[in-house]
Amino acid sequence: MAVVSTRNLTKVFKEGELGAVNNVNLETREGEFLVFLGPSGSGKTTLLRMIAGLETPTAGEILIGGKVVNDLTPRERRIAMVFQSYALYPHLTVYKNIAFPLKAQNVPKDQHKQKVEWASSLLGIGDLLQRKPRELSGGERQRVALARAIVREPSVFLLDEPLSNLDAKLRLSAREELERFHRRVGTTTIYVTHDQVEAMAMGDRIVVLNKGVVRQLGSPKEVYDDPADTFVATFLGSPPMNLIENADVICGFRPEHFRLAEDMKETAKINFQFRVENMEYLGAEYILSGNIVGGKVDGKKVIARLLLGHSFELGKTYDFAVPERHLKFFDVKTEVKVAPRPLTWQ
Ligand code: ADP
Ligand code: MG
Repeated sequence: MAVVSTRNLTKVFKEGELGAVNNVNLETREGEFLVFLGPSGSGKTTLLRMIAGLETPTAGEILIGGKVVNDLTPRERRIAMVFQSYALYPHLTVYKNIAFPLKAQNVPKDQHKQKVEWASSLLGIGDLLQRKPRELSGGERQRVALARAIVREPSVFLLDEPLSNLDAKLRLSAREELERFHRRVGTTTIYVTHDQVEAMAMGDRIVVLNKGVVRQLGSPKEVYDDPADTFVATFLGSPPMNLIENADVICGFRPEHFRLAEDMKETAKINFQFRVENMEYLGAEYILSGNIVGGKVDGKKVIARLLLGHSFELGKTYDFAVPERHLKFFDVKTEVKVAPRPLTWQ
């Protein structure tokens, strides 16, 4: 187990252009499951590849276990990386696939069996060792890729969207399996994804990236409940947080914090009229989208997420409220979080 940290880590692919990764400072905790979350092109893979030693930084340092590793090869860093396309060797059995890194590193052959058995039993694939990859399901192949990665007992695990080739159902079970696996081995893990649900579900903490810049590093609860800026506020959550600009401030509130005014027990709240323009029935809840009617923010589009219990009609206007404690405030220019302030909407 080891702590990974970066100091002002930067990667510029073409001189004069914006960096793919800009001045990133972060530190994992011992044994942590840290998630890099961001949209496509935000620099997640580049950051991970620099940590792995597969990409040379333009500037900055990478430390593993407190030592600068910039000049070490990937192998010397004792890191295991699993990519989106995990590329098992099709002509080799599962056993030989898992043993491959041992062979490549000249680990004495008499140790292979014991190590392969250890890794495969940890992932529950001990009975598949004589099969070829084509005889496995997607989830089993993924487990073989993980077993191959852990067989060298790495100090750090780097996973780059390892589940994105799986279908939705398999993804969920593979996710649970990865979580269980991490609890068992306790190896410091950095996991890359563009999927905010996956990030929230799996991460001890999440690094939210945009344009190669760390926007926020915090627990899932921190980044969801207390986003550092409007990017984080809207990237996490589905539907995203409503943002309404009024004077020098942007006010944000999440769709699930809407209530019909008549159902609202809290006294500190904002009230507004909401005309329902579209309605999605999702079984356990409604997603309503429409406009605010009247006041200074007349016509602003908003989305509400409501549990069943009321019926709504398209084109009708309802009295809604949001508790003040759920309102977030951001600066109009910088889009960065600012202190709460009185709202002057109505
Ligand atoms: P993500 O993994 O978040 O989708 P990447 O790290 O792959 O993002 O890419 C970040 C940015 O760097 C993108 O704009 C991408 O086009 C650019 N980039 C990535 N790899 C290279 C490369 N080898 N050469 C030039 N530009 C690259
Ligand atoms: Mg990527």
